[in-house]
Amino acid sequence: MKRKNKPTYHPETQAIRIQSERTPHREHSSPMYLTSSFCYDDAEQMRAAFADEIDAFIYTRFSNPSVQEFENRMCALEGAEAGYATASGMSAVFGSFMAFLKTGDHLLSSSSIFGSTHTVITKFLPKWGIEHTYFDLTRPETVAALIKPNTKMIFVETPSNPGLDLVDLEALVKIAKQHKVILNVDNCFATPVLQRPLLIGADLVTHSATKWIDGQGRVLGGIVLGRKELVDEVYAFCRSTGPAMSPFNAWVLSRSLETLHVRMERHATSALTLATALQKNPHLEWVKYPFLQSHPQYNIARKQMTAGGGIVCFELKGGLERGRRFLDKLELLSLTANLGDSRSIASHPASTTHAKLSEQERLNVGITPGLIRISVGLEHVADIQEDIERALDASK
Ligand SMILES: *Cc1c(COP(=O)(O)O)cnc(C)c1O
Repeated sequence: MKRKNKPTYHPETQAIRIQSERTPHREHSSPMYLTSSFCYDDAEQMRAAFADEIDAFIYTRFSNPSVQEFENRMCALEGAEAGYATASGMSAVFGSFMAFLKTGDHLLSSSSIFGSTHTVITKFLPKWGIEHTYFDLTRPETVAALIKPNTKMIFVETPSNPGLDLVDLEALVKIAKQHKVILNVDNCFATPVLQRPLLIGADLVTHSATKWIDGQGRVLGGIVLGRKELVDEVYAFCRSTGPAMSPFNAWVLSRSLETLHVRMERHATSALTLATALQKNPHLEWVKYPFLQSHPQYNIARKQMTAGGGIVCFELKGGLERGRRFLDKLELLSLTANLGDSRSIASHPASTTHAKLSEQERLNVGITPGLIRISVGLEHVADIQEDIERALDASK
C-alpha cells in the first residue's frame, strides 16, 4: 500500500514522515535538490508556471522542494497553516517586521530580546521612520496602555535570551486580539516541541533554526510561520528581497527535525537535573530555569510549556572577574557564541556579547555581572555537572 502522511498523526510523526516527492529512483530518505532553477517541457508549461496556473517550482529564491519539505515539517510541528524559510533567524525576524511595518508605524517589543533583534529595532527601523517602545516582558498587563493608534505589531521572545524571562502568552493574545495588532513570537528557545504559540492564538512565530532545530551547530536557518494570509505577505517581501534558505541547509535542517523531539526531551531532562543540583551550590547567588519552582514565572512556564528547555542561567558570587575565571576553568563545556548544540556551551554575556554596553545598560536587559548561560548538550549530565562544579570550585 502507498505510504501517506495523515494529518491526524502526531506532530513528531509528521516531522519524520512529511517528505518531498520521491524521484523515479524511489529513494527512502529525501534527496537534496541543489538547483537554482527548474525547467519546463515547452513554452505553454513555462507560461502556466509563471502565471501561477500550475503548481510548479520556478526559482530557488522563491521556493525549492528541499526548502518546502523543511517548511511543511515545521508547519506540522507548530500547527501552522503556512511557513517561509529564510537564510537565518535574523532574516526571519527582519522579514516578519518588514512585511507588515511601514513608515509611521509603531512596534511594541519586549525589552529582553536577542542582541541583533535589538539592533534592528533601535538602529535600522528608525531609518524607515518605524518607531518602537520597549516593555517589560514579565508585565504583560502594562502592554494595553502602551498601544497607540499606529501600533501594528507586538514582538516578544519567550523564554528570552539570555535572561530566561517568560511572558504569559494567553494574556498577550487577548490584548493583541482586542487591539487588532499582530502578535509575533520568537519561539527559538522553546522550539515547537515545548511550546506552540500559534495554538495559543499568536499570529506569527519566528525561529532561528540555527539553534536547537539544527542541534549540532552546523548551518544557519530561520523560518516565519502563521496563517497563510500573513505568511503570504512575508513571502512576497522575501521573494523579492532575497533572504532565501539554501536547499543544502534546508536538507540538513529537515533531517534534524526527525530527532527534534527526542533531543529536546533529553536537553530538558538534563537541564532540569543540572539546575536542581546547582541550586545547592555555595558559589552561586541564584539559579534560573523555567521549570524550577523558584523561577518567578514557574506557573506560566507550566501552563504554556511542556518542559523547561535546554538553557540554564546562574549568577556567580564574585561578578565579572569571577565569570572570566570560571570560563577558563571549564574543561568539557565549549566557549562559543552558539547555543542549542549537542555539545554543552557556557557563555558569560557581560564580558563577551554584551561587553560594549555600560553596566547600567546591561542591567536594563537583565544581564548581571556574574551571569553565566549554559546551553545543556546531549553529553551525560553527570559529566556536564562535574565540569561546572569543578570550575566553580577552582574559580574562587
Ligand atoms: C540566535 C537567535 C536569533 C537569530 O538567529 P540567527 O540564526 O543567528 O540569525 C534570533 N532570536 C533568538 C532568540 C536567537 O537566540
